[in-house]
Amino acid sequence: MRFANTGIYIHIPFCLQKCDYCDFLSFECRKNSHDAMERYTDALLQEMEANGRTQFAPTGTDVFVGTNCVRPQISTIYIGGGTPTALPSHLLCKILCVIKKLYLLAGIEITVEANPGTLTGEYLAALKIHGVTRLSMGLQTTKPHLLKAINRMHTMENFLDNFHAARNAGFDNINVDLMFALPGQTLQDWQETLEEIIALSPEHISAYSLTPAENTPLWDALDTGKIHLPSDETDRKMYHMARKLLTDAGYIHYELSNFAKPGCESRHNVNCWRRVPYYAFGLGAHSFDGEKRWHNTEDMSEYLAGNFAPQGVEVLTEADARAETMILGLRLMEGIKASDIPHVYVDEVEAQIKKGLLAREDGCVRLTPRGMDLANQVFEAFLQ
Ligand code: SF4
Repeated sequence: MRFANTGIYIHIPFCLQKCDYCDFLSFECRKNSHDAMERYTDALLQEMEANGRTQFAPTGTDVFVGTNCVRPQISTIYIGGGTPTALPSHLLCKILCVIKKLYLLAGIEITVEANPGTLTGEYLAALKIHGVTRLSMGLQTTKPHLLKAINRMHTMENFLDNFHAARNAGFDNINVDLMFALPGQTLQDWQETLEEIIALSPEHISAYSLTPAENTPLWDALDTGKIHLPSDETDRKMYHMARKLLTDAGYIHYELSNFAKPGCESRHNVNCWRRVPYYAFGLGAHSFDGEKRWHNTEDMSEYLAGNFAPQGVEVLTEADARAETMILGLRLMEGIKASDIPHVYVDEVEAQIKKGLLAREDGCVRLTPRGMDLANQVFEAFLQ
């Protein structure tokens, strides 16, 4: 196996306020917790220094054993969370400096997730100077009552202010995360949100349906009947609306929930869907080297004490790898080359084509529009 390039994921587990639907590994921090953030950053840098040096090759250096590139080079970096920009800028820049020491490829994509209200002109200039090429802004909805319904702490004004500041700082690759099927959201709310964001012309838009997670305030509120989600039928109408409005506006629907202007797809995420390895640093961060998956400890005290040992190592069987190839590959709208489809799935692919959920076109197998609506059902068929 030869992996000339790989991705890096860095997890920042702090948020200014916990959203009601969120079950990500992140902790609410207040402005007085700079000390906790500094200690976390120190641990993260230690982990990167300890593990990064053995895993990656300096720019321009390939280390081959036979056809194996044993120390892959980094082609994408994704700093996510949590809210990475909840960190003071000097800490995030410290992390970026260590990444640079750990070798960069020319033309690398470096994404930082940011929540509205956390950015200033100064902060953005620092990110730019340290090589960040892409911002991913978590807006979710433009409607104040819906932001409140899911306990997002920012306003649309915060978002607009930060979006324009990012443009002024020279960011020409910005993603806006949106969510639909929010409690109390109407089709008109969603249409207006899409139209308002399209008018700003970001390079990339993600549009995910809200999926309630257990052990969250949202789950409890749904359970006790305090709030209600739109029906499944409305959820699908919202998805169809997003596809129509965004593709009409020139965005390419390249993954089930992701839309980009031509050439502005998220390279990091596309690589993940194509099963390109990525190494992750930070609390609870998950890695994949092409053959196995593992994660870091989720216990903050252990992590701060320097426990960077891989946990829950899962060596993938051939059957696991085949299923992943199908499930992740079919998330991409270009689909999977027919010639790459594992032989054991030939009959199942034919069955899904007969059901109208998959189609064979231009030498590829991909989801049909109906298959997109029933994607989980299609994916399950490849797990058996
Ligand atoms: S900002 Fe993101 S990571 Fe933080 S609580 Fe909200 S959804 Fe979770």
